Amino acid sequence: MKLLEGKNVIITGASRGIGRGIAQVFADYGANVAFTYSSSEAPALELEKELIGKGVTAKAYKSNAASYDQSEQLIENVLEDFGGIDVLINNAGITKDNLLMRMGEEDFDSVIEINLKSVFNMTKAVQRTMLKQRKGSIINMSSVVGVKGNAGQTNYAASKAGMIGFTKSVALELGSRNIRCNAIAPGFIETEMTAKLDEKTVQGWREGIPLKRGGTPEDIANACLFLASDLSAYVTGQVLNVDGGMLT
Ligand code: NAP
Repeated sequence: MKLLEGKNVIITGASRGIGRGIAQVFADYGANVAFTYSSSEAPALELEKELIGKGVTAKAYKSNAASYDQSEQLIENVLEDFGGIDVLINNAGITKDNLLMRMGEEDFDSVIEINLKSVFNMTKAVQRTMLKQRKGSIINMSSVVGVKGNAGQTNYAASKAGMIGFTKSVALELGSRNIRCNAIAPGFIETEMTAKLDEKTVQGWREGIPLKRGGTPEDIANACLFLASDLSAYVTGQVLNVDGGMLT
């Protein structure tokens, strides 16, 4: 029997990058995968087809994670289509980098709304179902930047640090109902998000990583696999750094 056989998982922002990698690895381990995207419809539908080809149930939903109403509707739709939700992965995120001196209010607000408020929206929408089941695993995609800060990313770092506080609080609130909540803090992962950085900066990052390479979406997916499955049944309220040793 596969590790996630029969489990229903919802992942926000899986049309590309880390979310897409999680969806692919989870389907390989037998999970049924509901996932969202914001605008990349073609890659999302292509992923849906690929996952179904692996023999699991899969469906792509267009939904803005920053919207409370859309998140509630999404969970209703997924429950109707899948019959239950065992794992929620809050992965959708954006960057709008700038030095504080040059950062506009909209750049601050939109990063907080999409990266942090989305976690509130989705967790709140899913909690009733997990409470009824007396079981669930919630995984929040934070960042090393939320742990240590980063010049030029005050908005992003604040959103990712906020996710860690949210994660620990949910773990304390829902632990007695067997609902676990953990965060992952990826380091430098090679996706479209980091492809925006100039090669010199990227080379500098790589050299500073003890394992001497950037991470892949699969590296993060494998950590999610542990936190989503019963292998981590006694783990909650934790931040798992998956960063090649960057924070060591
Ligand atoms: P990415 O390649 O830019 O992909 C972002 C994903 O989020 C896309 O699927 C995108 O959908 C979706 N998304 C964006 N805004 C959304 C919204 N409002 N509602 C729903 N979905 C939305 O980013 P990534 O590198 O895979 O990052 C994934 C997560 O890991 C993010 O939370 C990021 O902060 C975190 N992280 C990444 C790194 C890294 O080095 N890459 C490091 C630490 C943490 P569309 O394609 O439709 O726009």
